[in-house]
Amino acid sequence: MWKGEKSVMIKVCKFGGTSMADGTNLLRVKAILDSDEARRYVVVSAPGKRFGGDIKITDLLYETAKDVRETGRTGEAFEKVKDRFRGIVRELNLDFDIETLLLGTEGEILRENSEDFAASRGEYLSGRVMAALLGIPFIDARAVVKFDAAGKLDGERTFSLLREALKGKPRAVVAGFYGEDYRGKVKTFSRGGSDISGAIVARAAGADLYENWTDVSGFLACDPRIVPSPARITALSYKELRELSYMGADVLHSESIFPVREADIPIRIKNTFRPEDEGTDILPTSKYRFTGRTVTGIAGKKNFTVIFIEKSLMNAEIGFTHKVLGVLFKHNISFEHMPSGIDTMSFVIDSEQLKNGVLEEICEDIKAAVSPNNLRIYDDIALIAVVGHGMSRNVGTSARLFGAIAGAGINVRMIDQGSSELNIIVGVDNENYERTLKAVYDEFFTEA
Ligand code: ADP
Ligand code: ASP
Ligand code: MG
Repeated sequence: MWKGEKSVMIKVCKFGGTSMADGTNLLRVKAILDSDEARRYVVVSAPGKRFGGDIKITDLLYETAKDVRETGRTGEAFEKVKDRFRGIVRELNLDFDIETLLLGTEGEILRENSEDFAASRGEYLSGRVMAALLGIPFIDARAVVKFDAAGKLDGERTFSLLREALKGKPRAVVAGFYGEDYRGKVKTFSRGGSDISGAIVARAAGADLYENWTDVSGFLACDPRIVPSPARITALSYKELRELSYMGADVLHSESIFPVREADIPIRIKNTFRPEDEGTDILPTSKYRFTGRTVTGIAGKKNFTVIFIEKSLMNAEIGFTHKVLGVLFKHNISFEHMPSGIDTMSFVIDSEQLKNGVLEEICEDIKAAVSPNNLRIYDDIALIAVVGHGMSRNVGTSARLFGAIAGAGINVRMIDQGSSELNIIVGVDNENYERTLKAVYDEFFTEA
């Protein structure tokens, strides 16, 4: 709850995969929407997992795209997709011709023979079913969400087309995850991208609040799959969200804030299965009040490689960094962090980018470009980000952080304190990732 919240008139609600997984859950979604008339625009994901070991519709559709590419036919995976949607419509007892829709969709998947097109059909079909259940119009994201020639969202066109499409519609369902590229072909966001679609619709609708409905009661201070029942974060700033989601807290896609940021629209994470729970507010600076906590949250990711470069008097050598960056540019490599010292410099890179001999080529090129005294590689590194506006205000935060990690007998391989003073990044061996998260969580969140 923030100052002025009472005037909320328009909410855009995005429902994730678990919320859309079966007929019973769709009815939960309907009840949530019916309970508040401000909830006018709905963005849906494809049906996700119903139980552990189940397969998400989107994964089945990627499999379908592979089948079409390799055999010219849809296979087993698409049969499962059809059965899931038939099951949902049956469960809901809906008067809706799902057979014709599935038949048409199958034909299009074969004709298009495109991974993005196939993957997008999960959201398309679930949007069609949701619109029928609610008895409100369906808006195909293809007509309103546009990407430019560089593959980036064309914000200006998208917001204007979407505003036009919403005009005169008091309520509507929009399919998440996809749009159309400059050639008129369907293109998806990266995985989890329906969160971005929700933010785009919130912006275009001039929403007062973007509600993101998922299967946890808010943004938690740590990954609940690693630390059991972590504390809920009551409120966090856009900046803290960006750091945490980028570093692996995938409850919300890390790019979701961009569309809402310029319009100062708050995001609220809510639990479809416990709608009465308060959730988490993600607030622009104008609405955010410092909570007093030292650390707001902790997140992390595995599988990074550190390229460590040492050379005496590196700092005095004009153009040194430029030359090393030139090597990375040549190989089209992006890096996450670049901690540096007087005579040392490291690059932390997602290991995925360095496969198939790329790392070796980069090392050769760096040697040729700057003749380092020492070039070392550390792989299988996990990064842990400790994030919070309170860290710069409270003396001794890093002492507590490193004390906790050392106390667990874990060796720190890399440290980077972001210039935003909002985070400290710690690198440890992959095998110590879970233990480090637990130790850091206990230090800052468990009362002694
Ligand atoms: P949806 O399908 O609704 O988009 P996601 O699976 O993308 O849901 O995101 C919700 C999941 O994110 C949770 O079930 C949880 O396991 C995981 N998660 C990881 N880090 C966090 C965190 N810090 N707080 C809450 N959930 C988290
Ligand atoms: N269905 C897509 C995925 O599984 C997008 C989303 O759910 O946000 O990644
Ligand atoms: Mg998600």
